[in-house]
Amino acid sequence: MIVVIRRDATPDQTQAVVDKIKAMGYGVNVSKGEERTIVGVIGVHDNKDVLAAQLSGLPFVERVVPISKSYKLVAREGGHADGVVRLRNGVEIGGIAVHVIAGPCTVEGRAMLLETAKHVKACGATLLRGGAYKPSTSPYSFQGMGKDGLEILAEARDVTGLPVITEVMDPRDVPTVERFADVLQIGARNMQNFNLLKEVSKARLPVMLKRGLSATIEEWLLAAEYIYAGGNHNVILCERGIRTFEPATRNTLDLNAVPLVKELTHLPVIVDPSHGTGRWNLVTPMARAGLAAGADGLMIEVHPNPSEALKDGFESLTFDRFASLMAAIRPIAEAVGRRMAAAEAAV
Ligand code: PEP
Ligand code: MN
Repeated sequence: MIVVIRRDATPDQTQAVVDKIKAMGYGVNVSKGEERTIVGVIGVHDNKDVLAAQLSGLPFVERVVPISKSYKLVAREGGHADGVVRLRNGVEIGGIAVHVIAGPCTVEGRAMLLETAKHVKACGATLLRGGAYKPSTSPYSFQGMGKDGLEILAEARDVTGLPVITEVMDPRDVPTVERFADVLQIGARNMQNFNLLKEVSKARLPVMLKRGLSATIEEWLLAAEYIYAGGNHNVILCERGIRTFEPATRNTLDLNAVPLVKELTHLPVIVDPSHGTGRWNLVTPMARAGLAAGADGLMIEVHPNPSEALKDGFESLTFDRFASLMAAIRPIAEAVGRRMAAAEAAV
């Protein structure tokens, strides 16, 4: 269950609620939103009804809401407003502005990354992506530049002002990736790497959690719950396509998931039509569809020369095609009452 604290409650009154819950043997998770503070009650004991009744009687408790879902803290139940994840440079994901995260699948070198970063920024992207630690299906494929790649990403951020998102695959790498990145990406293959989820739940950076290749929506939200319950409330979901019977596209981009997870959770949602389709010529139409479905942003792979890319060239946009995508998505964002976030880009 969750306890919604009245807007005018003092910090001491909120603490009194926390103490009461702990005294009855439960864990707590406090989310301080702009509108209200919500205290999540964690644990299963026989005295839950007694606790609920006692808390409901407190004058500074607005209401006590039982959560029927298996995931509790990320659930929309309980009257959570849309969550906004704020990056350290002030960029907000989940508000009215729509963000485009763009860059190569993999950091392949300094020149290509800087060139790509400058181009995507000029076109209106507000975050830079690029893998340094790459999950590769084949052990013979490129595994990424590792720490050298992180250094190049940080340099590109310094040059362009774009915050950087990059994947972390190993719990042991979290402190290193945290030193260079602005958002930690958990890749599809690691969505249920519970030790990794626990590790990033302790990180001070926001986490973007990609949906697993064959994960149900409930499994995906439970994975998000691991991060949230561990103390990191800055969680962004990313729908990147799931595996179905259809081999004509790399994955099947599940756009049903977008309005559904918006209904089920308060977390922002990004759509990745690059991995979702695996074909560059489907990326723009599905980016438009993703925004129309209510996504808070897009993740797009862009490469200076996709035919020579070390990874995912077939789904990567050239610079010109990325510029066209940016022009093509704007009217869709506006049609659904959003605006492009470019004007707020970091400096
Ligand atoms: C990526 O973003 O490059 C990536 C590997 O994505 P996913 O984990 O969705 O396959
Ligand atoms: Mn990729």
